[in-house]
Amino acid sequence: MATLDIRDLHVDVVTETESKEILKGVDLTVSSGETHAIMGPNGSGKSTLAYSLAGHPKYQVTSGSVTLDGEDVLAMSVDERARAGLFLAMQYPVEVPGVSMSNFLRTAATAVRGEAPAIRTWVKEVKQAMKDLDITEEFADRSVNEGFSGGEKKRHEILQLELLKPKIAVLDETDSGLDVDALRVVSDGVNKYKADSDGGVLLITHYTRILRYIHPDKVHVFAGGKIVESGGPELAEELENNGYLRFTSGKPAAV
Ligand code: ADP
Ligand code: MG
Ligand code: MG
Repeated sequence: MATLDIRDLHVDVVTETESKEILKGVDLTVSSGETHAIMGPNGSGKSTLAYSLAGHPKYQVTSGSVTLDGEDVLAMSVDERARAGLFLAMQYPVEVPGVSMSNFLRTAATAVRGEAPAIRTWVKEVKQAMKDLDITEEFADRSVNEGFSGGEKKRHEILQLELLKPKIAVLDETDSGLDVDALRVVSDGVNKYKADSDGGVLLITHYTRILRYIHPDKVHVFAGGKIVESGGPELAEELENNGYLRFTSGKPAAV
């Protein structure tokens, strides 16, 4: 049983010219076996939360805490976060020319498991995971994220989830840019991870669409840099019907 605990988190985004507070006191607890959806208008700070959890240097925590089973996540390096069992989908969004997917995944698995998986079993493991996720075999030989479509990037994330089996997975806008078939594959991948590993999922999304395939236990509305309302799946239905206007004082959301 693992628990990610976010307490009164305040985060500034630091650019060349200024530093601006984006997260204004986020409180959230995600435990093993739970699926939480964070939904909110564009520009409300959802991705900033994900980047902050990932330890991106542009996002500076000014106060509050993040712990995983009591361990201070904010004091950990990006690698240490992964080893502790935290998976952040955007952790490796960059292209890595010359590094094949299979090598990349083995390196990641080595970091998380503390020892390199034996080549023979590893190849079998990767093949099986790719088959389960409906990913063609040639994908394993391609360079990481190089020329990947949006859908392929997402499949890559889900493949990592399947192979690394983290305790808590944070997935930011996993549904954006996915056609219905890809959405299905990704959702099946997340659901398989939940069933196999009893992992906790924090799913950050603007659209309710993916929640037809991945059923959240709890839904949180994010606006103005914090959670402004929490509820069950019925809250997602309300958002589907009425949008976010109720949470943005009638002002249209920033794009
Ligand atoms: P969301 O994911 O909810 O659409 P974001 O977290 O991407 O929201 O953005 C929240 C606010 O923080 C926006 O005003 C955005 O312009 C600003 N912001 C986020 N990241 C950066 C960045 N790297 N540089 C400058 N501003 C940023
Ligand atoms: Mg956005
Ligand atoms: Mg975003």
